[in-house]
Amino acid sequence: MSILDWMEEQRQLHQIALSFGEKGGVKKKLRFKKVEIEDENKSGLWTRCEYCGGILYIKHLKENHQVCLSCESPLQMSSKERIEQLIDKGSWRPLDEMISPCDPLHFYDEKRYTDRLFDSQQRTGILDAVQTGTGLINGIPVALGVMEFGFMGGSMGSVVGEKLTRLIEHALEERLVLIIVSASGGARMQEGIFSLMQMAKISAALEAYQSSANMLYITVLTSPTTGGVTASFAMLGDLIFSEPKALIGFAGKRVIEQTLKEQLPEDFQTAESLLKHGLLDLIIPRSLLKQALSETITLYKRSGYKRARG
Ligand SMILES: [Zn+2]
Repeated sequence: MSILDWMEEQRQLHQIALSFGEKGGVKKKLRFKKVEIEDENKSGLWTRCEYCGGILYIKHLKENHQVCLSCESPLQMSSKERIEQLIDKGSWRPLDEMISPCDPLHFYDEKRYTDRLFDSQQRTGILDAVQTGTGLINGIPVALGVMEFGFMGGSMGSVVGEKLTRLIEHALEERLVLIIVSASGGARMQEGIFSLMQMAKISAALEAYQSSANMLYITVLTSPTTGGVTASFAMLGDLIFSEPKALIGFAGKRVIEQTLKEQLPEDFQTAESLLKHGLLDLIIPRSLLKQALSETITLYKRSGYKRARG
């Protein structure tokens, strides 16, 4: 279906829904259509913004670093695109690329865990849900970890934990500033306790890096950052940055509402709400993130230099 046909269908659908005079009916039908266009555009040219509903040409969206051209909301970005956006061209040196996951619990639900891994590896071109390495940000050397939401929802299994731990140890050894960009649904349930123990392992490595060595760790939260990732390294940054409108939380909003038996505010678990309550340091648009990181690191290094000399 071409985009013009789709728009015509949307217009007709809207009119039919209006003629029913039911507000709920309009919503229901429009939501149904959204699913259709998303499915259709897996191989297509167009997609739809999940925030404003605007129709976007995928080529232009890519050129704009996956930021909606209508409402400027940051949409989901792959780890590869993120590295290209943040790291100076030609300076990226990946670490531990060949560590691959196994299936210690022989887990299966509707599908075998090994099959899910294989599918994600085929789709993303990487072996698990994080890329780590070193590179330059506006000429400043850093150690960078970027989670890949497209790989099983960016879930943290033993490979993610091991790669991030090694990255932190490498940053400590080389005296590099550490940056981790998170995008994750939390711990990977298919690995059970092996996944949960990564929270403690990464946090212990960070303790050595931050408290003992007094080195700078900046975390960048992107949508969504939830579960065990929020409960460990994502919120342990010396500085915590976030993209606008990012969903950040531990348990889901509905679960909390059911437990507390009360309705939560509309902006609950958004970056804006977290900033208001002192849980974030800065919300920064994607287009300014690289500059913000390099300026922050420069400021940090200068202050350290003055302290050492003073
Ligand atoms: Zn939009």
